[in-house]
Amino acid sequence: MSVLIVCPGKDPENWVNELKNQHPGMNIYVYPEDHDNEEVEFALCWNHPRGLFKNYPNLKVIASMGAGVDHILSDTGLPEGIKVTKVVDERLTEDMSDFVLSQVMNHIRGLHYYTKAQKQKKWDRFQYQRPKDTKIGIMGMGVLGNAVADKLHKNGFHIYGWSRTEKDCENVTSFHGKEQLEEFLQNSEILVCLLPLTKDTENILNADLFDMLPEGAYIINVARGQHLVEHDLMKMIDNGHLSGASLDVFREEPLPDEHPFWEHEKINITPHIASLTNPNSVVPQIVENYERMKEDEPLKNRVEIDKGY
Ligand code: NDP
Repeated sequence: MSVLIVCPGKDPENWVNELKNQHPGMNIYVYPEDHDNEEVEFALCWNHPRGLFKNYPNLKVIASMGAGVDHILSDTGLPEGIKVTKVVDERLTEDMSDFVLSQVMNHIRGLHYYTKAQKQKKWDRFQYQRPKDTKIGIMGMGVLGNAVADKLHKNGFHIYGWSRTEKDCENVTSFHGKEQLEEFLQNSEILVCLLPLTKDTENILNADLFDMLPEGAYIINVARGQHLVEHDLMKMIDNGHLSGASLDVFREEPLPDEHPFWEHEKINITPHIASLTNPNSVVPQIVENYERMKEDEPLKNRVEIDKGY
């Protein structure tokens, strides 16, 4: 029984070391090194080559190296009956909450603007907005959305949440489903996207949705690049309806040199670092699921493949 690590373009060393430390008996292969496909029952992966897992007749579980599973579920060649798990990790969640709080604070205090103004030796002061006067809408009230809501609420912001199913979250005015999307958006002066990427959420950040936001709204996308219709965002910023955006994720990563986002003065870019998976912190749940698989017990953090998250 072996574990296969598949993460092309990513250095697997820390994962291998942590797995060996935390489960000394585990037999580990790193794709594409030589291995016997029939031995592999558990795979740990990030952006695997499409159709790869069809070649593993005894594979039972595919574990994502991160919280997102779109990189797995978008493979139309997954083996029948396979189980998929995602990462739920306190450190990942805390880091995401800190990142969103910092982007929100940067926006309401104009810090992105002052960084650029300094380069031009511009002494240009303006009034700022205060947390208690600011309404933030969070799309996706799952593990990360909930933690972000909690952190922002503790910092004095008014929080509105949108999810697929009805929720009753403390300190959050909750909305759900397409029928309540417009009312949710009308309350979102800052809109944070923390949705999983599914067929229902792809391209959801588009001109029609932006139109429903209050004049001057600000967008923070920390979910996936494919949620955003890039041209619509630039159009709505350039015509003044939106005041700007902080983007951590992109359709193409790394963002190509010629991409207009690099030069746009109202778009702030980070290279998909809102919350980085830490192998040391995540490996215990991988090891636990490996043991659960062996004992035929229910897996932790299992994804509903039909739902897409
Ligand atoms: P969860 O699965 O815990 O939560 C997903 C939330 O989205 C749920 O509240 C769900 O609603 C809601 N949702 C899903 N589909 C819809 C829909 N069609 N309409 C309305 N709401 C919907 O996800 P996580 O919080 O763990 O992660 C969210 C995403 O964050 C990941 O998928 C990943 O893409 C991204 N991410 C980005 C990182 C970065 O560094 N930039 C790092 C880690 C993750 P309901 O509760 O009703 O089911």
